[in-house]
Amino acid sequence: MNNTQIVTRFPPSPTGTLHIGGARTALFNWLFARHNNGKFVLRIEDTDRVRSTQSNTEVIIGSMKWLGLDWDEGPYFQSQRSKIYDEYIQKLLSTGNAYYCHCSKEELDRKRAEALAKGLKPKYDGKCRDLGLGDAPGAVVRLRSPLTGTTTFKDLVKGVISIDNSELDDLILKRSDGSITYNMAVVVDDSSMGINYVIRGDDHINNTPRQILIYKALNRPIPGFAHLPMILGPDRKPLSKRHGATSVLAFKEMGILPEALLNSLARLGWSYGDKEKFSTQELIELFSLEHVGKASGIFNVEKLIDLNSKYIMEMDGDRLADSLTPFLEALGCSHLSREKVKGAAITLQKRSKTLLDMAKDSLFYFKDITYDEKADEKFLTIDLIDTLEDLLTDLQGAMDFSQAELEKIFVNFLEKHQIKLKKIAQPLRISLTGKTFSPGIFEIMEVLGKDMVIKRLSDAISHIKNK
Ligand code: GLU
Repeated sequence: MNNTQIVTRFPPSPTGTLHIGGARTALFNWLFARHNNGKFVLRIEDTDRVRSTQSNTEVIIGSMKWLGLDWDEGPYFQSQRSKIYDEYIQKLLSTGNAYYCHCSKEELDRKRAEALAKGLKPKYDGKCRDLGLGDAPGAVVRLRSPLTGTTTFKDLVKGVISIDNSELDDLILKRSDGSITYNMAVVVDDSSMGINYVIRGDDHINNTPRQILIYKALNRPIPGFAHLPMILGPDRKPLSKRHGATSVLAFKEMGILPEALLNSLARLGWSYGDKEKFSTQELIELFSLEHVGKASGIFNVEKLIDLNSKYIMEMDGDRLADSLTPFLEALGCSHLSREKVKGAAITLQKRSKTLLDMAKDSLFYFKDITYDEKADEKFLTIDLIDTLEDLLTDLQGAMDFSQAELEKIFVNFLEKHQIKLKKIAQPLRISLTGKTFSPGIFEIMEVLGKDMVIKRLSDAISHIKNK
């Protein structure tokens, strides 16, 4: 196996969008492939024609792209592979490893009810197993499973798992409507796509012995299996909507950075000492299945948001501007100047936990403002008129509107009036932003620029006069 290239896969069913659990599975497969210079395959398992939708597929693919989980092959679509499945079914039939079963649904239901009534585990009784039946309307194809012995595999996370073959039914591979079953499709796909590592959630662990029997019947190599522990919410209950956002798209819309989400996902079952913050490159370098534990991973949105603020703090101005722009546009800002967005973002970088927070807090730079009612009453008072008018004159005379220049203008202004900055800082802040909280007054003046500052200060003066 040593010289063989590692090939992993992510096979989402587009019956929903991409959620934390699926994204974690995708990430672990991607990291394992990237760490080992292997290949990562994307396959859309859309055999459930009723519940699979095109828009879910698009969201899944968009979410993968946003997370940066690029694939080397695919996306394959199971719905386009029925010919291949049929070939494999024929192969199993011709080698005697599968057979046609004509039992009706009514008959199977009755036998099932009888077994349950006797307290037995319902199981197909093998009635058609040796009848040598051919195809017929209503017939299904079943796997001729071994009746004795055990199926054993060494899960790369959970250790050795063994199950008596007598527990495993002659499972249906092809339904009477001609559609292929999940276990058969997955084995045919994994086998024909050269997948040699299957890393997936442990909700699939019961399928693994069944899939191994199909590999054996097809006489194909069996991949390594790693079943990842469950994901719980902070209350240790299975992660669900009750715990808040769980879809990748929701986190994107919330203004979480992809690398922050990847970092949180990586920690759901995997660890590297006590280290908590990893760049994506570090994850690739350090990832191994040996460090995937058996204990459930706890997903905590609050922690993700805290982590996100750390990643925001490290972003350079250009990326900040690129990342913030779509959020501002979604909030109705248009004709945005890139330099202004960059400047605005930098003033808010240290105080924003998400890009959405940042966009909301920076709206005063880009849209008309309204004064917070209480702040207006308390700070925009008539006694300040002369001071503010004088300040307006000084600012109109400013040759440049850099922070350093503004500071000089203010030092002179305060000295001339014999007042402290405190006296005018809040009135000025409200005049410029409408609010009592904002980044430093000189920072915001520089980003707003001279024309906008003069206009807002003049507006505030008129507003006070009209009170
Ligand atoms: N399509 C399956 C799912 O979304 C995954 C099957 C597998 O990993 O084998 O749960």
